[in-house]
Amino acid sequence: MTTIDDLIQKIKFYAPNADLDLVRLAFDYAKKAHNGQKRLSGEPYINHPLATAMNLAEMKLHQDIIIAGLLHDIPEETHPENPEIALREIKHNFGEEVAFMVRGITKLGKIKYRGMERYLENLRKMFIAMAEDVRVIFIKFADRLHNLETLDAQPPAKQKRIAMETMEIYAPIANRLGMGEIKGRLEDLSFPYLYPRDFEKLKKEVAPRYRAKEDYLKKTRIKLLKAVSQFSFGPAGEDQKNQSGRIKVFSIHGRTKRLWSIHKKLQQKGYEDLSKIYDLVALRVIVDTVAECYTVLGIIHQLWKPLKGRIKDYIAQPKPNGYQSLHTTVFCDDGEIVEFQIRTKKMHEEAEYGIASHWYYDERGSMPVAKDLKWVRELTKWKKEFEENQRYLESLKIDVFQNRIFVFTPKGDVIDLPENSTPVDFAYTLHSDLGDKCIGAKVNEQIAKLDTKLQSGDVIEILTDKNRKAPSADWLKFVKTNAARHKIKSHLKQSKKLR
Ligand code: MN
Repeated sequence: MTTIDDLIQKIKFYAPNADLDLVRLAFDYAKKAHNGQKRLSGEPYINHPLATAMNLAEMKLHQDIIIAGLLHDIPEETHPENPEIALREIKHNFGEEVAFMVRGITKLGKIKYRGMERYLENLRKMFIAMAEDVRVIFIKFADRLHNLETLDAQPPAKQKRIAMETMEIYAPIANRLGMGEIKGRLEDLSFPYLYPRDFEKLKKEVAPRYRAKEDYLKKTRIKLLKAVSQFSFGPAGEDQKNQSGRIKVFSIHGRTKRLWSIHKKLQQKGYEDLSKIYDLVALRVIVDTVAECYTVLGIIHQLWKPLKGRIKDYIAQPKPNGYQSLHTTVFCDDGEIVEFQIRTKKMHEEAEYGIASHWYYDERGSMPVAKDLKWVRELTKWKKEFEENQRYLESLKIDVFQNRIFVFTPKGDVIDLPENSTPVDFAYTLHSDLGDKCIGAKVNEQIAKLDTKLQSGDVIEILTDKNRKAPSADWLKFVKTNAARHKIKSHLKQSKKLR
């Protein structure tokens, strides 16, 4: 069981200058807010936000994000009817940034599941819509990871739904963001709920193979380490970065393939068993520079004979999500087949938690729902900004959304509109009849004027009068969409003619 001290220790390790007192304060605050509340499993509610925060610390994120993780369920769990009350207090105590992120998470919770196909499309849009700030997505991933870990306590129908949603929405987005570690965890936690028999079977088959390889990999690792440490780049000092002329190895470690990706591979290739999956276990070599990556590849090929067609240079040609590494599969001693993955430390960190461009392409390489939206193209700028900006997380407030807002129908459909759009724009976007007969609107369940400027995340309900004959000419003064303007004008022209 995780404790607040574990969390503090973890943060201290990668961010010694973080304001740990503030983190502890946030924990105490959350604990008090959730006092008396229980998870379905029966454990105190605070365990959930704490585990969420721990997942965020695992990603080495900033203290503000971790604090937002600790507080993320307070508005919904303590003031479900008016989350703003809790948010105001959070802002007062922990500042604008934290409150902003908690609000983002609270908004995401609004969407209710109804029917898979519709949901998938909406949820993808929603994620982008709500990702006014990518930090909110990180918190959502961390939250979802713990919910999956405790999914056993939920009724079977909900288990299936959450697992499916994770597989279809969360994991692909994690993949698009280049967050391989998160994607892998999300998938392997969902797998047993979707295909329990396949999961159990595979788990049983894999275990002895891993055990059998353990000793062998240990020996292989030592042999490689020895060869690498004997290598010299030539006269010391030639390479400015590396005075010693030696290869700087950060680590050589084994990595076992995730169960879900084994399952997928078996299915895709139509394999009967695991014998043709060569990368069940791989050895990962982490070095300092790109030059060293290629050198290590050469050393491996001198030691052992490579399999044909199994050398992949993802450094020269990165995967679409930005993944970089050299892969090679070789016949090791005694004819054992082993895959090696060679990368720099930076590549390694990016492969585990990095954020990457091009993520809006779907798994099959085609563009989903959002392809005609101009800002989607802008998202490719992400990665660049990310790399250029030191304080990258703060820079990731996705300014490409500046000219668009995303609002919801009462059923949870996402509608995107230009900034400063009004309920009338919303009504005409849905249906011209809805616009023509519109007499009022509710925004977030409160009656609102028809010229109200809508905000991202608002839920809009249009009130109509079926006897209403025509839109009002006054509306032209405030509508923002061409569609609304056009329809109102043409309606007015028509009714003039009739008179
Ligand atoms: Mn939660």
